[in-house]
Amino acid sequence: LVPAGLFGGLAAAAAILLLARQRMSMTSALRSALRRGEFYLLYQPLIDMRSGACVGAEALLRWQPPSGEDVGPDLFIPVAEQTSLITRVTARVLDLVERDAGDFLARHPDFHIGINLSPADLRSCAVVERIDALLARTGARPTNLIVEITERGFLHLDSARAVIAALRDRGIDVAIDDFGTGYSSLSYLETLDLDFLKIDRSFIEAIGTGAPTSQVVGHIMAMARTLDLRMIAEGVESEAQAEFLRTHGVHYAQGWLYGKPMSFADVARLTSYARRP
Ligand code: C2E
Ligand code: CA
Ligand code: CA
Ligand code: CA
Repeated sequence: LVPAGLFGGLAAAAAILLLARQRMSMTSALRSALRRGEFYLLYQPLIDMRSGACVGAEALLRWQPPSGEDVGPDLFIPVAEQTSLITRVTARVLDLVERDAGDFLARHPDFHIGINLSPADLRSCAVVERIDALLARTGARPTNLIVEITERGFLHLDSARAVIAALRDRGIDVAIDDFGTGYSSLSYLETLDLDFLKIDRSFIEAIGTGAPTSQVVGHIMAMARTLDLRMIAEGVESEAQAEFLRTHGVHYAQGWLYGKPMSFADVARLTSYARRP
């Protein structure tokens, strides 16, 4: 008779092996996706809560493998972040923004593109140089960009602070993304100089439900005001949520209520409709 503990141990080892192999095959698939240019961006409209106009968009990455359905970032960004691939993925994102939106940004100084950076991107100033190149080549202005940073994984505080300072010195706005979902949100808020706090969708979802978390959004908004941060709400799906956010002084919002992620051409069309008197 084999003791049950041994079976458990073997099963766990097999599971770990399987995970490691899946990650390895995902990593090599990502490498070839970078080589073959299988990434593209969708853009989700960013709405000014006071005017209701579309004043920007967040760039959201998609991967279209040669066969099968598109893969969402929740599946491949974590793998890219655990390997060193993420900085190459980010460089590709900036290439795609330049291609999709460069001309438009040069003509619309008050339109904002949100770009997601990972903690590893904040470890060196390479990303700042890449952004400088984008601005120089397109004629877009620093104020055209909002850089969104997450607390997923380990943020090396000294270099993150240096990169954030370099971006803000140029006039680029920096937002802390998915606020409230990480472990060290509060300490980050104290030590990083930021422009925007982006309230995570989980808190927006809870608005008006009476759930314990529905109280949290009020505290987050009060804190943002105390720290003089402007607010962006994500994942707004209902008019009731929007009304609540508007009355509490949230500046910008995005979510299915206004538009799902779409091509840049569609966002540009939305924006010019909204501009019409
Ligand atoms: P995120 O930055 O919190 O992006 C918002 C996510 O919520 C997007 O999912 C978006 O499609 C989804 N969403 C937006 N509005 C609604 C809504 O009203 N209801 C619901 N249920 N969902 C909504 P997506 O595109 O799958 O992105 C997932 C995450 O992947 C992003 O979360 C972001 O953290 C990461 N990500 C996406 N693109 C990039 C990228 O280019 N670079 C990096 N480093 N991360 C990225
Ligand atoms: Ca984001
Ligand atoms: Ca977010
Ligand atoms: Ca989120």
